[in-house]
Amino acid sequence: MERAHNFFAGPAALPLEVLKKAQEELLDFKGTGCSVMELSHRSKQFQTVIDEAEADLKKILGLGDDYSVLFLQGGATHQFIMLAMNALHDGDEADYIVSGKWASRAFEEGGLQGKANLVATSENLEKKFSALPEVKKENMNPNAKYLHFTSNNTIFGTQSFDYPKPLEGVGLVCDMSSDFLSHKFDASKFDMIYAGAQKNIGPAGVTVVVIKKSWAEKTFTKKLPKTLDYNFQIKKGSMFNTPACFNIYITGLVFKWVLGLGGLEGTEKRNREKSEAIYGMIDAYPDFFTGYIKNKAHRSWMNVCFNLPNAELEAKFIAEATAKNMLGLKGYRDLGGIRASMYNSTSPESVKALVDFMDDFRKRNI
Ligand code: PMP
Repeated sequence: MERAHNFFAGPAALPLEVLKKAQEELLDFKGTGCSVMELSHRSKQFQTVIDEAEADLKKILGLGDDYSVLFLQGGATHQFIMLAMNALHDGDEADYIVSGKWASRAFEEGGLQGKANLVATSENLEKKFSALPEVKKENMNPNAKYLHFTSNNTIFGTQSFDYPKPLEGVGLVCDMSSDFLSHKFDASKFDMIYAGAQKNIGPAGVTVVVIKKSWAEKTFTKKLPKTLDYNFQIKKGSMFNTPACFNIYITGLVFKWVLGLGGLEGTEKRNREKSEAIYGMIDAYPDFFTGYIKNKAHRSWMNVCFNLPNAELEAKFIAEATAKNMLGLKGYRDLGGIRASMYNSTSPESVKALVDFMDDFRKRNI
């Protein structure tokens, strides 16, 4: 069996080592005679799984006991509303930076609970969301409960490596669903980070939420149903009700894999090299490959969007790539063209195969 070169935008590639480990342990997890899927979430074996996942993630992020890690369900989309429900009481406001479609969704959902302020957006650019929005301090609101932004724009392919600085006393919250753990960053600058697992860290069905405990206690004071209450979930260690056990187990294996790569330094090196290879090809032949993001400092390492000279060539490119076992290259439906998603687990070999194919395809079709 040949493994595919996986460029899906999510759910996406997982490390082969992780899949093999899960396969090896599937029928008999740690001598239990059960798979992780068949074990009680109250068993000591599963408690070890979730505790290790939390400890390993904190190790990767360099965070201590002042932060909690939650493993929740409902996807990243659910966090859009859960955050606003927890933080915004009647008339409260929150600031949003809208750098793409998912950021825009978060902003809309925030507005269902309180006053969502649009601090900056790049939606109105001639090519929608083709650059990071310019964030000005004077557009921020001192009364905002938090400043929310999305570090990687999965659909159009921008990524922030420089994070916004909120005003004094305003929490910093980030949706890192599509670039979580992809490069070195200072996690201690954040009050809350969340990420749907299915791109960079695991399978769909679990969302990782990292929260600064003191900020959560101060900010999330509203009485809410228990499953929606961050402080209650923190108190219960994500186990008020049955969590997504198998998904947490796989995510925990991915964290161990990241530690094995050397943590964020390791993922950064790997992801930088992959992105340089593909943007190198785009920049070398701008008459054939037109990158969607012109400003090099705004380009995503995770999602690379580009066009070929016409739609027929794009269709041919995708068909030939698929025949060569390179999957998931069709651009998002709003944008068309090609999108190569290359998350942490996408192997350098897969990216090399794609870059070689781009070169060969160009030569045959100029
Ligand atoms: N945020 C970002 C940045 C995303 O890319 C996505 C999914 N593509 C979401 C949020 C929504 O995630 P989910 O499907 O897990 O709700």
